Amino acid sequence: MTPFSACIVAAGSGTRAGSAIPKQFTIVAGKPLLRWSAEAFARHPMCAEILIAIPAGERERAEAALAGIEATLVEGGATRTLSVRRCVEAATQARVMVHDAARPALSATLIDQLLAALESAAGAAPALPVPDALARKTSNGVEAVDREGLYRVQTPQAFHRDELLYAFEAGADTPYPDEVSLARAAGLAVTLVDGDEAAFKVTYPDDFARAEAALGGISAGLPVMGTGYDVHRLSAGTGLHLCGVFIPCDLALVGHSDADVGLHALTDAVLGAAGAGDIGLHFPPSDERWRGADSAQFLIHALHLAREAGIRPVHADITLICERPKIGPVRDAMRARVSELTGLPLARVNIKATTTEKLGFTGRGEGIAAQAAFTGVLA
Ligand code: MG
Repeated sequence: MTPFSACIVAAGSGTRAGSAIPKQFTIVAGKPLLRWSAEAFARHPMCAEILIAIPAGERERAEAALAGIEATLVEGGATRTLSVRRCVEAATQARVMVHDAARPALSATLIDQLLAALESAAGAAPALPVPDALARKTSNGVEAVDREGLYRVQTPQAFHRDELLYAFEAGADTPYPDEVSLARAAGLAVTLVDGDEAAFKVTYPDDFARAEAALGGISAGLPVMGTGYDVHRLSAGTGLHLCGVFIPCDLALVGHSDADVGLHALTDAVLGAAGAGDIGLHFPPSDERWRGADSAQFLIHALHLAREAGIRPVHADITLICERPKIGPVRDAMRARVSELTGLPLARVNIKATTTEKLGFTGRGEGIAAQAAFTGVLA
């Protein structure tokens, strides 16, 4: 097979999708919509380069959405046809594939089929039959339309670059809904290959939920995990909070909140699994609201973010590193409290303790350290 240039059209404002930002930058199943198809092309062995038409003034947002993917950004034109033309003109390969950024579920099989079809045609596009009955509204009612021989045409639409450039020239920048229409208007032979229902176009607000389910489904059942680590200083006092349990003793933990180093480590582990940063990002120590706060609320918020990210908790494991207080007598109470906060059964909450053989700050009793691992599964 011959290498090709991928041209992705992401230059629209996406007003029909009803989102506040252009729809190609909306996060769907953890990634900007545009990134899904850019990654699909980047993974394909025959894809030599990726060109993307973006709206004027959106370069920064596009670069962030595409971080780590090699792509040439091209400023889009006033119409789809102009945007595609600019990409195709900048392309370096003899074959080009024009794709809508709003079709995130692009399969390698579909790309292969199109490349194969280009061996014997100027252009090729995926198409699906029309399952519903069709009708046309007229001034005096409705008139039935025969759906026989009608197809829904998708993208990518593949072309020999020279032929497509000829079609642009012939079309004199007349706007066309897609490149198959443009090519046919210029008299080029376009062949159809089997389309893919999964490669639907995100157009209306409800389509985002459908895309989220379809793309998120790719990773359903996969385990995710995060780790956390925290330290708080010890001072003389009347007791301290560890893993959600108050332990009366002659020590205290120093911190802005209740300084529960165990729950802080677990909160960071949950945020890690959720890809949601760290505890300081959500609960800055500079914020007066968190002075003396019960750290349980930090953990509850992190678990809420994890659930929003589609993660179901599976297991929590906390290690407390200190000489004092003795953890053994309160271990069961800690497990029960963490089980209650996380909704995990007791059997899947573990609390461990270790000393550091009198070495280092924990060994000298200057502070307590904690580390935690949190495991979940993508729902
Ligand atoms: Mg802390």
